Amino acid sequence: MKPSAFAYARPRALREVLALLERHGDDAKLLAGGQSLLASLNMRLSAPGILVDIGAIPGLDGIALKGRTLAIGARVTHRAIERSELVAQHVPLLAQAAPHIAHIAIRNAGTLGGSLAMADPAAEWPACCVALQATIVVASKKGKRRIAAGEFFKDLYTTALGAGEMITAVEFQRARKDERHVFLELVRRRGDYAIVGLAARARFARKALSEVQLVYLGVGVKPEPAKAAMAALEGKAADEAAVRAAQAALDSDLSPSADLYTSADAKRHMARVLLARAVAALAG
Ligand SMILES: Cc1cc2nc3c(=O)[nH]c(=O)nc-3n(C[C@H](O)[C@H](O)[C@H](O)COP(=O)(O)OP(=O)(O)OC[C@H]3O[C@@H](n4cnc5c(N)ncnc54)[C@H](O)[C@@H]3O)c2cc1C
Repeated sequence: MKPSAFAYARPRALREVLALLERHGDDAKLLAGGQSLLASLNMRLSAPGILVDIGAIPGLDGIALKGRTLAIGARVTHRAIERSELVAQHVPLLAQAAPHIAHIAIRNAGTLGGSLAMADPAAEWPACCVALQATIVVASKKGKRRIAAGEFFKDLYTTALGAGEMITAVEFQRARKDERHVFLELVRRRGDYAIVGLAARARFARKALSEVQLVYLGVGVKPEPAKAAMAALEGKAADEAAVRAAQAALDSDLSPSADLYTSADAKRHMARVLLARAVAALAG
């Protein structure tokens, strides 16, 4: 199928993008990497009156350290994150997760901002951002605001972005010395969206885990922090008893739905398997 007719704008300044978003409201769609949007236009799941291409806007494509924060621009591609030494050194969870996103051709075009705005429940970046307690920076004609990642994902494909707002950057705290990051997922074939995935982060010192973050993808309508499992591991040695307690706690954290290929029980089982692997890696 072909998309319905639309106007196209490629502004050169952020303020022009924001003016277009305000003027056209819901009839405007931002175009970043196009890896999700173009398919939805071609299938006529979406029929905006105007596409606003953000490919020429300066300042959206950098990765920069600012004190304790690593800021990544909204238009930075998945592949640039995968290859960044700054990311590997300071936010290794992102470096581990990136190769799981689709295939290289898609990672060369798809962007961090586009993925977060899509809010696909099986996508890697939303779960990573929640586990890292990242801050999502958004802009509109009214100015900038910062949204905690944990507050950003509201429902299936639904975010806290308001009318006329766009993502400009994401801010991550640099990992501390005793902090460990682990990203794991189970897929049918390499490059597929995850059946179940887990973004995990914790401090590990004196043989005990602390500040544990376990955020699942693919098991709900949005990234799902496993709060009871996190509490079960807090302050504990990463031993078998702690893992068993955390796995049992997952039952109250997650209520996955079956999809075309995988039953809810199988997803629950996979979530438990990933938890055990993540704890072993966090303490390894
Ligand atoms: C075959 C295939 C497999 C894929 N597999 C995976 C996978 O395994 N994991 C995964 O996470 N993703 C996967 N994707 C999706 C891919 O990661 C996309 O790149 C991503 O979801 C959207 O990013 P984009 O830059 O291409 O955004 P676009 O497609 O350009 O835009 C997507 C949406 O976000 C909006 N948007 C874009 N930028 C902004 C912004 N800065 N602020 C606010 N709104 C914005 C657009 O208006 C649009 O509504 C796959 C895609 C394909 C085609």
